[in-house]
Amino acid sequence: MHEASVALDLIRVAETVALEHGGGRILALTVRIGQWSAVVPEALHAAFPACAEGTLLAGAHLSIQLVPGVGLCPLHGRVELELQRGLRCPNCDAPTPQLLQGDELELDGLELDGLELDGLELA
Ligand SMILES: [Zn+2]
Repeated sequence: MHEASVALDLIRVAETVALEHGGGRILALTVRIGQWSAVVPEALHAAFPACAEGTLLAGAHLSIQLVPGVGLCPLHGRVELELQRGLRCPNCDAPTPQLLQGDELELDGLELDGLELDGLELA
């Protein structure tokens, strides 16, 4: 679906960061994707190389970290949600309307020529 535009967004952010750090080539990037975000990791992997063509990220290695969905059950506290059950506690089936994590889509790290940047908080 919209993975190509997601890839382009990530590339734009990564290029901005790279330019702030001297503008060298980007060798690798790590992206955190929530299981509950609308992004399909495989599709992003597939879309990325073509989108990166002609940018500082051409040929860069894309790593994707999947973040599981976590909700808040009134009985069980933080629980890891299962996609097929929806926003419900897997233990007692109580609704957990609030998603504590699992919808992220953010650039987590960049490897520039000779420089590693971790823990970027850029969405
Ligand atoms: Zn529960």
